[in-house]
Amino acid sequence: MKFQLSLPRSQNRRFILLFAVLSLVLAFALPGRADEPYARSRDYDLQHSKIALRFDMAQKEVLGDVTHSISILRDGISRLAFDSVDLSIKSVTVNKSAAHFETTADKLLVSLPSAAKIGDKFSVSITYEGKPRKGLYFILPDKDYPDRPSQIWSQGESEDTRYYIPTYDYPDDRLTTETILTVPAAWITISNGKLLSVKDAGNGLKTWTWKESVPSSTYLITVVAGEFDELKNSWGGIPVTYYAPKGRGDRLPINYGRTPEMIELFSKKLGVDYPWEKYSQVMVDDFVAGGMENSSATTNTSSSLVEPKLSTEYLTGQDGLISHELGHQWFGDLVTCKDWGDIWLNEGFATFMEFVWMESHFGKDQGDYERWEAARQWFDSGDLWNKPIVRHDFNDAGIFDGNSYTKGGWVLYMLRHQLGEEAFYGGLKHYLEVNRGKNAVTADLAKAVEEATHTDLDQFFNQWIYGAGAPKLQLSYAYDDAKHQLALNVKQTHKVEGHVGLFAFPTTVEIATAAGSKSFPITVSKLEEVFNFPAESAPLMVLFDKGGHVLKSAEFQKGKKEWVYQLKNAPDLGDRADAVVALGKLKNDEEALNAIGDALRIDKALGLRVIAADTLGETGSPAAAKYLLATLASNDAPSVRNRAANALGNIKGDASAASKLESIAKSDSSFRTQAAALQSIGKLKTAGAFTVLEAAVASDSPDDVLRKAALRALGTLGDDKAVPLLKRWAAVGKPTDSRTAAIRSLGQLQKDNKDLTKEIESYLTEPRFSVRMASIFALGTRGDASAIPALESLLNGGDLSIELAPMIKGQIERLKQPAALKEGRGGAGAGGQKPDSSDASSVNEKLDHLERLIQEMSERLKSIETRLPPPKQ
Ligand SMILES: [Zn+2]
Repeated sequence: MKFQLSLPRSQNRRFILLFAVLSLVLAFALPGRADEPYARSRDYDLQHSKIALRFDMAQKEVLGDVTHSISILRDGISRLAFDSVDLSIKSVTVNKSAAHFETTADKLLVSLPSAAKIGDKFSVSITYEGKPRKGLYFILPDKDYPDRPSQIWSQGESEDTRYYIPTYDYPDDRLTTETILTVPAAWITISNGKLLSVKDAGNGLKTWTWKESVPSSTYLITVVAGEFDELKNSWGGIPVTYYAPKGRGDRLPINYGRTPEMIELFSKKLGVDYPWEKYSQVMVDDFVAGGMENSSATTNTSSSLVEPKLSTEYLTGQDGLISHELGHQWFGDLVTCKDWGDIWLNEGFATFMEFVWMESHFGKDQGDYERWEAARQWFDSGDLWNKPIVRHDFNDAGIFDGNSYTKGGWVLYMLRHQLGEEAFYGGLKHYLEVNRGKNAVTADLAKAVEEATHTDLDQFFNQWIYGAGAPKLQLSYAYDDAKHQLALNVKQTHKVEGHVGLFAFPTTVEIATAAGSKSFPITVSKLEEVFNFPAESAPLMVLFDKGGHVLKSAEFQKGKKEWVYQLKNAPDLGDRADAVVALGKLKNDEEALNAIGDALRIDKALGLRVIAADTLGETGSPAAAKYLLATLASNDAPSVRNRAANALGNIKGDASAASKLESIAKSDSSFRTQAAALQSIGKLKTAGAFTVLEAAVASDSPDDVLRKAALRALGTLGDDKAVPLLKRWAAVGKPTDSRTAAIRSLGQLQKDNKDLTKEIESYLTEPRFSVRMASIFALGTRGDASAIPALESLLNGGDLSIELAPMIKGQIERLKQPAALKEGRGGAGAGGQKPDSSDASSVNEKLDHLERLIQEMSERLKSIETRLPPPKQ
């Protein structure tokens, strides 16, 4: 789960942080809860499982028959414990003789005939039934959605396989599998490994047998069955297959067609060929994650099947998700973290492999852009700051966080930069070869890279992996004309406490003068230090950490002219992006805006132009509007124009902007730009907004992108006459995405209407997770305290996943703030956090901003690998 939530920058960073990061990220993106931080001590080695499953669709039940081949690891064991939750165990045999067994809330305990010895082998067969709350999900047509294709799919990580198979359910054991699935004859199935056979099973059923002969952990077992379209491809003689829910097969090539090229790149870079017998990717509806890297058979959300007409508007398509899950096939599946505390060995690497693909396929600028954004995002998530990447005290808060993903990926990038490409990949090859088919901890990685490169990495791992934080720096320089010398002052300003220490890192300073540019390697290690460099004449540009290869934040004291020069002349995107941000802080300064406007128009990197558009919007300055309007008038790439339309939504009081946005909102060559314009006119409350939005709701577009944008914008617009229209689109039977947009907007309108509150409450118990989520937030937004009992009963309901609880609690807190709610002010923060200002209009502006932010985030969340709680069955 990549955590690719690139939060738009805002003047109200603290506010965003509190609300968006705490409330949303906690709720959406940290749900990979793992109960056991440390690996278990094992009594037995589970070597092979034969897993035969049938399904009772009407009851949403699984009927299972598993046979585990087990080898005993210690003397005197007389009972075997399997993880098993809510499964009704019918019978158990040990070596084909009936065995005594008992069950607890989360275990199946099977007695052995007598105390066993190390190396003794047993075959344990278990017949069972269950109606899984988690682990296995049934997505079937029903009266409201009669045409949806049937799908059954599993999601094992972190510890959910035990909800549909009684097994050893922790990563520190590996087994081969044979999966035998009996399903309706018209269905197809996907599981780990090779397909051995498909046989008629009578009664309109067929039995599919899959065999995985490369061992992996139980959380990587996958079971998918249903009505799917299939597309076949290959890489190096290995089958590469893609599956879409029936009827959407035409979306596979454009979104997934680059997979073989990725497999080729990763195999070459890592020096270890793709290690499994096949690679399939199956896209399923209502998936509880963005993507899941099951061994040889990834499952992804079907929202990654973007309609072809729309997918061309995304510069990097779905490649982030696809390369992430593919990267896991080496890091996570072939070599698996031994315990959840070392999950960064899975997620940090998968995040790094995304970057490897982006850089290779889309070029260095795109790689630099993603890395620069990732660093900014990580620094914005304040709750990650004082936590080390490797830690074992995570419990409820989860470990699938921005440290495991974003910072983990960044640390690997830094390691590559410090060691050099060849040595770094030599180290990874050694790590993969030594640990192939094993479970690893961070020390195994450090040791392997040291062995391969003869470089001591203790300090590197100590500060970046076992320590917390990252350097925050204050930089300034003075030029001495007489000595022809430049003195650069470097100060580490972050608080040294807890796990956060002073940082030591090598970096490069580049000084550009009229005579040319010179680079100087330095090592920063002290609290404060002055570095002296020769310089022929006063510098035109001083770059610290040229190219941005260290995860850091820096305040570099430079004048406007220097920033402008840097924006025009720095060769690397990161240095130009820093200049855009610095110039943006000057707000209404014409020269600064002009420089950013030029960058928006002509910079060679799309990413930099996107940053320029965002930054112009964030100034909120009417003087910035003309640059954004010029971009909208151009024939530019949709990825830039849509950001310009979005940015204009932050600039109030410019009539030409309002009219241009309305015209784009009605019609444009780019759907995403049109959608952004719809949002912006809602936000600016332009004169014609309601009519334009109403028409957009009625219009059809790829993936309903315009309807969804308009439904959301109607909430932001705040005109109560939208209520009947929103109610129609919130109703059961409408497409889920349109429903969630409409429900969220209903939260913002007719806040005194108790009947409307009741109507939103009725959606709290729906099967579809995203609808429940939208309803919870909508109720919080309304400020109608009459919703508290409904939220509390949801909170106390037995089937509630722990992951949802913090979010519901946050909304209840919001509703309990008495003064704020009646007047519709404030109280927007999660967990009772209040906005900075008590001024009503400024608070409302912030709320508007948050509404948009939440929507942008939830759009992004769909394409990332999040682990969400299950829908209520
Ligand atoms: Zn991942």
